[in-house]
Amino acid sequence: KSDSLAGKVITITGAGSGIGRASAVLMAARGAKLVLVDYNVTTGEETLELVKEQDGEAIFVQADVSKEEDVENYIQKAVETFGKIDVAFNNAGIIQKFQPFHETSLNDFSRIIDVNLKGIFLGMKHALNVMVQQGYGHVINTASTTALRAEHSLAAYTASKHGVAGLTKAAAIEYVRKGIRVNAICPGGVATTLTAAVPQMLQESDYMPEEFPNMRIGRFAEPEELAELVAFLASDGSSYMTGSIIVADGGLTL
Ligand code: NAD
Repeated sequence: KSDSLAGKVITITGAGSGIGRASAVLMAARGAKLVLVDYNVTTGEETLELVKEQDGEAIFVQADVSKEEDVENYIQKAVETFGKIDVAFNNAGIIQKFQPFHETSLNDFSRIIDVNLKGIFLGMKHALNVMVQQGYGHVINTASTTALRAEHSLAAYTASKHGVAGLTKAAAIEYVRKGIRVNAICPGGVATTLTAAVPQMLQESDYMPEEFPNMRIGRFAEPEELAELVAFLASDGSSYMTGSIIVADGGLTL
């Protein structure tokens, strides 16, 4: 068993499902102490149980990442409980319904931006505040291949993820001489609750792609495959990486 994350304190948002949950389970197995964050208490506490089943040390804190008081609260709980934050994995995100740009309501646009972009901004800001005082830390954000190129009928989602790449690069520049690194991962299609909803959403839309998304590798990733990337980034093995927008997409963007 690898102990590459022994002693590291890691916050994970969106820990109740998908990439967040798989990362929690893997990083606990590698010795990390975790602060599991989700707005869904039931699934968040299920992840806590999964982590404890392998003798992992963790707490669960309920939070909506788009609310500043909730973000401040989980950051404070992390410091109170474990005394520091080594890695903040800002991963929570939501998918929008597929719809033409000109029919996208301001409400729908704002909801996606609130969670996917404002949520990442708040998670970064409050983690960085702690990391600046510590003099070290690593922020890992979940972006998407839509941070690099558009996906048809997903303008709000695409814009939110381009924004995540922008925040990642901007912060990487500011904190690189302060001992703090900032990176982002770009999954393509991952078999999670989020993508399970896509076929139905496509059916309800006017958009009928032959294949969505078009992964050249011929299958969705399992969340555990993204967790391996996150666990590597969270380890000291990634020490020379900052401002990187890291693609793990089965060839989607080729
Ligand atoms: P998922 O739906 O399985 O898990 C997301 C988790 O985030 C859920 O537990 C949900 O309750 C939580 N969450 C959602 N909004 C929240 C909020 N406002 N506050 C707190 N928690 C919230 O999805 P996933 O596929 O694991 O997605 C994780 C991240 O990966 C997202 O940012 C998503 O955009 C990104 N991503 C996913 C894919 C994919 O194909 N699944 C591809 C590229 C990027």
